[in-house]
Amino acid sequence: MSKRIYCDYNATTPILPIVQKAFMKGLSFYGNASSLYALGREAKEVMESTRESLAAILGCYPDQLIFTSSGTESNNQVLKSLIYDKVVLKKDVHILISAIEHSSIFDTVKVLLEYGVEYDVVPVTENGKIDIDAYKALFRTDTRLVSIMMANNEIGQVQDIELLCQIAREKSVLFHTDAVQAFGKMDVKVTDLGVDFLSLSAHKIYAPKGLGVLFVKDDSMLKPLLDGAHHERSMRASTENIPSIFAFKTALEQLDVASYQAHTADVRSTFVSLLKAHIPDIVFHHALAGLTNTVSVSFEGVFGHHLAMNCDLEGIDVSTGSACSVGAIEPSHVLRAIGVADDINQSTLRFSFGLMSTKQECEDVVHRLKRIIARMRS
Ligand code: PLP
Repeated sequence: MSKRIYCDYNATTPILPIVQKAFMKGLSFYGNASSLYALGREAKEVMESTRESLAAILGCYPDQLIFTSSGTESNNQVLKSLIYDKVVLKKDVHILISAIEHSSIFDTVKVLLEYGVEYDVVPVTENGKIDIDAYKALFRTDTRLVSIMMANNEIGQVQDIELLCQIAREKSVLFHTDAVQAFGKMDVKVTDLGVDFLSLSAHKIYAPKGLGVLFVKDDSMLKPLLDGAHHERSMRASTENIPSIFAFKTALEQLDVASYQAHTADVRSTFVSLLKAHIPDIVFHHALAGLTNTVSVSFEGVFGHHLAMNCDLEGIDVSTGSACSVGAIEPSHVLRAIGVADDINQSTLRFSFGLMSTKQECEDVVHRLKRIIARMRS
C-alpha cells in the first residue's frame, strides 16, 4: 500500500510534534483557572500568557480576546448576539453576509430569520471578490452588522476587509470577519483591518481542536452565547480548556507567515503544473492571488464525490467542495456564487497544502490521479 498523502489542510491541520508535546505538558495544569489557590492561579497564568501572545500577533489588547470552543462558536456568538436587540430591545435588525461564507455563518443567519432578524447576501464577482457596488447598495437604515470572511476555504479568495470595513463604519454598522482560514496563512492585524469582531480557530494552525477565539473590540457590543459563571469577562461561561490554550501558545510561536507562503506557493505551483501536464480537460477555480495553499480544480466528466472516494482508496486525502444534505449531494454554494455551472461544480476537488506538504507528494498525487481519472473517464 502506498503512503497516504494529506491534501486537506483547509479542513484541519496535523498537530505539530512540538505542539503535541506542549499539549501533554498542558494536561498537568489541571487547576480551574477561576480557583483562587495556587493551582488555579497557575492555570490562569498559562491562559493569560497565551492571550498576551495572541494579542501581540493580532495587534489588540489581551482583554479584547475571548477563548471559545471553535471558529463555529465564535461566529455564532457574534451573529446570535443580535437576537437580544431584536427580541428584547424590539429593534429592527438587518445583517449583510457574503455569498461565499462558511456554513457556520450561512446556517446561523437562517436561524436568526426565525427570530425576525433579516439578512441579505452580498454577491461576489466571478473571481470571488465582493461586488463593491452591490455591497454598498444593500445597506439599509436597520443594518446592524456585516459579516464577511477574510479568506475563503474553497477557492482561497481573500477580501479587502479594510475597505469593506471602512464602508460599513461610514454607515455606523458593526463589522465581523471570519478569519478562520486567513489566520496563520497571511498577516491578520485587527487594528489595520478596523474590524469590531474577528473569529479564528486553533486547529487550522497545527494546534488541537476544540479551541477558538473571538476578538471583540468592545464588550458592550456583544452578548454571551453560554450563560453561567463569570469566565472570559462573563462573555463565555465554561471552565477554560487550559491544555489546548497552552498548546496553542506553542503553535503561535511557530507561525511564520512569509515562509509558510513561500513554501505553499512553491508546492502549489508544482502541483498545478503537473496537473496541467498530465491530466486533460481540467478547470481551475481558485484565486491565484488569494491563499497560497489552495487549489480548486474540476475534472470534466467525473463526479467529484466518486472521485474523492477513489482518491481515498488510492491513499489521497482530499475534499470536494460540495456538501451532503439529506442524502443528496448539493453543488458547492461557493462555486455557484462565482458562476460555475453545476455539472462542473460537482466535478470539483479542493486540494489544500500545508507545512508538511512536499513536491514529491505532488508528483505522487498527480501520478495516482492520472490513473484514477483515466479509469473513471473510460
Ligand atoms: N469558518 C471557516 C472559513 C472555516 O473554514 C471553518 C472550518 O473549516 C470554520 C469557520 C469553522 O471552524 P471550526 O472548525 O473551528 O468550528
